[in-house]
Amino acid sequence: MRLSQYFLPTLKETPSEAQIASHRLMLRAGMINQTTSGIYTWLPLGELVLKRIDQIVAEEQDRIGCFRITMPTIQPAHLWQESGRYDDYGKEMLRIKDRHDREMLYGPTHEEVVTDVVRQYVSSYRQLPLCLYQIHWKFRDEIRPRFGVMRGREFYMKDAYSFDVDAASARVSYEKMYNAYLRTFARLGIKAVPMRADSGAIGGDLSHEFHVVADTGESAVYYDKTFESITEADYSMEKLSKLYAVSDEKHDPDTCPISGDQLISRRGIEVGHIFYFGTKYSKSMNLKVTGEDGKPIYPEMGSYGIGVSRLVAAIIESSHDEHGIIWPEQVAPFRVGLIDAKNNSETQAISTQLYEKFKNAGVSVLYDDRDERAGIKFSDIDLIGLPWQVIIGGKTLTNGTVEVKNRSTGAREDLSLDEVLTKFL
Ligand code: ATP
Ligand code: MG
Repeated sequence: MRLSQYFLPTLKETPSEAQIASHRLMLRAGMINQTTSGIYTWLPLGELVLKRIDQIVAEEQDRIGCFRITMPTIQPAHLWQESGRYDDYGKEMLRIKDRHDREMLYGPTHEEVVTDVVRQYVSSYRQLPLCLYQIHWKFRDEIRPRFGVMRGREFYMKDAYSFDVDAASARVSYEKMYNAYLRTFARLGIKAVPMRADSGAIGGDLSHEFHVVADTGESAVYYDKTFESITEADYSMEKLSKLYAVSDEKHDPDTCPISGDQLISRRGIEVGHIFYFGTKYSKSMNLKVTGEDGKPIYPEMGSYGIGVSRLVAAIIESSHDEHGIIWPEQVAPFRVGLIDAKNNSETQAISTQLYEKFKNAGVSVLYDDRDERAGIKFSDIDLIGLPWQVIIGGKTLTNGTVEVKNRSTGAREDLSLDEVLTKFL
């Protein structure tokens, strides 16, 4: 992409309404634009990151055998009246009426819709286990939308739903999902600690929240220090669920099993939440299948959320510096920022040639070909946080070398034009 032709409305001033780094940086980097309170337009750079996270989350759901679907954002009230949640849900639910005066709502979650789908097609234990997921927009009329997309009213969520014949099998589904979450967050370049949680309004017993530790997190979290030294080899529910880790309301200093130096107390951003709630919806919505013995059974269910749009902000909270965002390679909107720091006809010719070579080799590159001062180009490229910067400047003309800067470490190296191409292949 040539920056001169791209739509990247970066801001020089720090927006005064933004209280935390990720919100400020997303606005300044031209990733999002606020449409109204808690509701955002995702601009091209933000959209690229959102879709990269979407893809990684989806791949890990597919890997454990879940199937992607897309459910409607608008739902009929009668499904929620059937499950008994319509009156309980309260003001977070946006309730609307269609032209025939029928009550509708913008979905804050999708247990009812998915249960309604499954009960129409699944009638035998042989069709289970089944796991369906979507990655789609939700609306919750949060009382205090804040911190940009961190707590929005409209937000993008992965929500999966599992259906099993019995509790033992439901536990297996739950554990698969727990492990898939560990893999997902590791691939996204962040550390998310699984915490035992209350299952809240939806009800149930087995429940974990996944928190990214960050000073700006909205929840207090308490966990065993051992979490700080675990590696990917330990990433399994079997190992991790034995360690103490809880958020807010579950922590009681008087009964806490660990203490002293071993107990870490920090702030956390909740990026995922999984829970097993048994037959709550299958019973209330009459989803029944025939069991092996010919008798009807109500499937055991679980639901599993990941805040995909919140993750964009959470990744920035855990990866930025005073100059801007530092994208982990896996989610970066472009891998390389190519900068023509001189803007003369010679450097332009070299930059354009290298840009074409990168493109032909399939390297994702943003080429700053604008007629701007080098200082502006350097600060913009630092701000938007691409993992690598390739700088064409005076040395390219005298020595035939380009400078390659790693955004994360700040390390610089001089490479020849041929070497720089092979570095990114
Ligand atoms: P919270 O306690 O932050 O309100 P929740 O318990 O209501 O979260 P869930 O219903 O479990 O959230 O939704 C699954 C995931 O969706 C959460 O773990 C979070 O990452 C994300 N999420 C929930 N509410 C919002 C929101 N208002 N804006 C952005 N992401 C959200
Ligand atoms: Mg909530």
